[in-house]
Amino acid sequence: MEFIDLQAQYRSIKKEIDQAIGDTIESSDFILGEQVKNLEKEISSYCEAGYAVGLNSGSDALLFSLQAYGISSGDEVITTPFSFVATAETIVLCGAKPVFADIDPKTFNIDPAKIEAVITPKTKAIIPVHLYGQPADMDPIMDIEKKHNLVVIEDAAQAIGALYRDKKVCSIGHIGCLSFYPAKNLGAYGDGGMVVTNDQAIAEKISMLRNHGSKKKYYHEFMGDSSRLDNIQAAILKAKLPHLDQWNDMRRKIAHQYNTLLSKYVAIPFVLPHVTPVYQQYTIRVKNRDFLQTELHKNNIPTAVHYPLPLHLQPVFQNMKLGYQPGDFPESEKAAQEVVSLPMYPELSSTDQKIVAKEIINSLKQK
Ligand SMILES: *Cc1c(COP(=O)(O)O)cnc(C)c1O
Repeated sequence: MEFIDLQAQYRSIKKEIDQAIGDTIESSDFILGEQVKNLEKEISSYCEAGYAVGLNSGSDALLFSLQAYGISSGDEVITTPFSFVATAETIVLCGAKPVFADIDPKTFNIDPAKIEAVITPKTKAIIPVHLYGQPADMDPIMDIEKKHNLVVIEDAAQAIGALYRDKKVCSIGHIGCLSFYPAKNLGAYGDGGMVVTNDQAIAEKISMLRNHGSKKKYYHEFMGDSSRLDNIQAAILKAKLPHLDQWNDMRRKIAHQYNTLLSKYVAIPFVLPHVTPVYQQYTIRVKNRDFLQTELHKNNIPTAVHYPLPLHLQPVFQNMKLGYQPGDFPESEKAAQEVVSLPMYPELSSTDQKIVAKEIINSLKQK
């Protein structure tokens, strides 16, 4: 069994993908070509926002969003300590200081009730992460943003297609960041990312940041970098996008079946009443996680832990002396010890799901 089987998806759309790659090579249009422009149009419309800019990675989407809104040294940005490292890393890369607020233990997303207590005159932005494909609770976050005049950058790397009160993620905050890392719900065959926003000036700024601060070739207005989405990846993503809603539906069906098989034995994912998640991960919570994971691996069932160490305790941030210690974010620290993600990808068979569930139930009986 695989944790995620990218080959199964490729086999199901091989013709379209091979054609898209072949056509791009035939045209030899590799950098910022038609495919990138078309994909930007399609993704901005898919996400119900005005503009999109294709980038090298989801990490650069976060970094350029911060830079485009002028966030730099002396500023503070509030985010969750329970995320992939890029969320906080990019805050440091733009020169600002990451300030954490603990999670809601039910959703694993930032707890809006804990944000206001850490706002200072230096706070410029909030980065909610839609972890595992479930939107963070955006309404109270947007209320805080309005009251304190902040920028909201949605880290939607795991959540393309997810809905919050019938709105697509990336269209709720000021800007949304997507990752096309191969294992994400819309995955490229390499690295890729995108920002989505309704702010034309910000989109234009990011389209220059990704290309050495340049609008006109060999004229450079400000510092940028080389971070364009490859045309060949854009062609692949364009071929995949029409399938995304169906794949997300398949993920929801799989999650539903896992729920049915497991709800009596483990804490299954809690879903806010007014959201539609996209299950980038299906993550359960158990007390004896390490034992369960070892037992499952003995039986050839792959699992993963997202994430085993909260960001405030990571050596990289400890070494920056941000002032955080063990115990500061008890919900994130507890989640880091109890979460485990099960095999999840649209093509996962019902038979395999039953095997996973059976082994989980067996292992739990042993302890
Ligand atoms: C994957 C991911 C990123 C980074 O995306 P890359 O494309 O790998 O740079 C950022 N934040 C979260 C929550 C992610 O899962």
